[in-house]
Amino acid sequence: QGLLEGRYAIVTGAASARGLGKATAKLFADHGATIAILDLDANAAKAAAADLGEDHVGFACDVTDKTACASVASELKARWGRIDVLVNNAGITQPLKLMEIEPQNYEAVLDVNLRGTLYMSQAVIPGMREVGSGSIVNLSSVSAQRGGGIFGGPHYSAAKAGILGLTKAMARELAPSGVRVNAICPGFIATDITAGKLTDEMRAQVLAGIPMGRAGEASDVAGCALFLASDLSAYCTGTEVDVNGGSLIH
Ligand code: NAD
Repeated sequence: QGLLEGRYAIVTGAASARGLGKATAKLFADHGATIAILDLDANAAKAAAADLGEDHVGFACDVTDKTACASVASELKARWGRIDVLVNNAGITQPLKLMEIEPQNYEAVLDVNLRGTLYMSQAVIPGMREVGSGSIVNLSSVSAQRGGGIFGGPHYSAAKAGILGLTKAMARELAPSGVRVNAICPGFIATDITAGKLTDEMRAQVLAGIPMGRAGEASDVAGCALFLASDLSAYCTGTEVDVNGGSLIH
């Protein structure tokens, strides 16, 4: 028996083949959930959904577009009757120094990571409140907790720290409705977000700071997302869970 049998879950930014969203969607599907993969490109989202097996769906949805988030959520509500889980995974990063951040960099990184998390959550919350349950999982980063140091610039740290504040405030406001909201703070996980952009020297430096001595795998994050999405974490809300091989033991 899977941990998400009969549940309906949305995972944003899950078309990226080696990404955290895709690994999470796959594990959720293996545990009995029906999945909607949302990403920028409709065909990529549909192909990723088809990889998970029958009944899963993919849609184009730019999470920075409030109307697009609302319309996909209402289409899924009509199709499924309910939405049990939302994983706000869509995210982008840029390796800039403080003084290099231009308005368009700030907007791109803050909008996808933080505004997108807000808009997609707003799209599913009315339905979750109606049924009196739901779990929202937000992707923050170790970068929020330690001020970068891996790849993302200060604007990325700020966006991911914003997600922690948003997670806690949403958790507080939604707890009486039976809706839980938690954040995951991954450390260094090898995905396309840094692929080809990390020099050998940067990589060696990052690995030296990880007590477990290895980069994380997408499945390490997916497992944590499964815990937070399922009833195993029934009494957890407003938490931030570190998935970083011990790189920020505090
Ligand atoms: P990835 O680049 O492999 O995948 C990100 C996906 O988000 C892509 O499919 C992309 O098309 C999609 N996306 C981008 N903008 C979007 C938008 N406006 N609307 C919808 N989708 C959009 O990245 P990943 O490494 O799998 O990262 C997933 C999440 O985990 C991100 O939020 C990232 O910041 C976070 N994270 C990753 C790491 C890591 O080391 N990989 C560490 C900490 C946090």
